[in-house]
Amino acid sequence: MHAATTVSLIPVLSDNYVFVLHGEGPGAVVVDPAVAEPVIAWLEEKGLELEAILHTHHHSDHIGGTPGLLQRWPEAAVIASAADRERIPLQTQGVQGGDQLRLLGRELRVLEVPGHTRHHIAYVVEPEAGGAAELFCGDTLFAGGCGRLFEGTPEQMLSSLGSLAALGPETRVWCAHEYTEGNLRWAAEREPDNAAIRTRLAEVQQLRREGHPTIPSRIGLEQETNLFIRAQDAAALRQLRGHKDLWRG
Ligand code: ZN
Ligand code: FE
Repeated sequence: MHAATTVSLIPVLSDNYVFVLHGEGPGAVVVDPAVAEPVIAWLEEKGLELEAILHTHHHSDHIGGTPGLLQRWPEAAVIASAADRERIPLQTQGVQGGDQLRLLGRELRVLEVPGHTRHHIAYVVEPEAGGAAELFCGDTLFAGGCGRLFEGTPEQMLSSLGSLAALGPETRVWCAHEYTEGNLRWAAEREPDNAAIRTRLAEVQQLRREGHPTIPSRIGLEQETNLFIRAQDAAALRQLRGHKDLWRG
C-alpha cells in the first residue's frame, strides 16, 4: 500500500514553477527548484521534509535553488542526468532514459527528451489505480509551445515531443514556465480559423486575469492545441520554432 500523493506548484521568479510531490507522510520531492527560499518556506509551512530533488536540465532557473535546499536538508538525494554531471555537479544519483525510481511510494520513469538542451530529461510518475500519470517535462513541452532549441535539433525535439505524446491523453503536464498565454496568442495568429486554439486561449486569458496558473495541462489538450506537438516532421517543427523565436506578440 502507498499513500496518495499530489503535486503542488510554487510560482517563483517571473514565470517559473517549482513542483512538489508529496503524500500523507512528511516526505516531499521537489522538481526544478529555481530558487531555495520560497521552497523552504512552503515545505516548512506544510511540515514537509525534503527527500529528493529532481532536475530536468542544467539551466540556472531549474537548479539554482539546490545549494540552499541542501543546506536545509543535507540528506536529500539530487537526481539528474548522469550525462550532464559537469553542469549539474551537486547530483548524488545520475540517471538516464529508461531508469526507474521509487520515491514516496510512487514509481517514476526517466525519459530522454533532448532538444532544448542536449541532456534534457523528463520524469513520469506512473499512475495510481484510477489516476493519471504526472509528467515533469522541464522546458521541453510547454502548454501551447515547446522549449527553444539551444543545443538540440528540430529532429531531436520532434522525437522528444513524440515520446511525450505517447504517454497518453490523460497525462498531466507540469511544465516549468507559465508561457501558456503567449504561446496560444502566437498559435491563434498562425491558425486564425482554429476553434480549439481560440477557445483555449480565451480560457487561459480568464485564468491569468484571475491570477491562476494554467498548469497542469494534459497531453490530450496539447495534441488539440499545440502546433509543435502536432508538427508532422522536423522541417515543419523547424519552421514553427523559427517563427516563434522571432515573434514579439
Ligand atoms: Zn531551460
Ligand atoms: Fe527554464
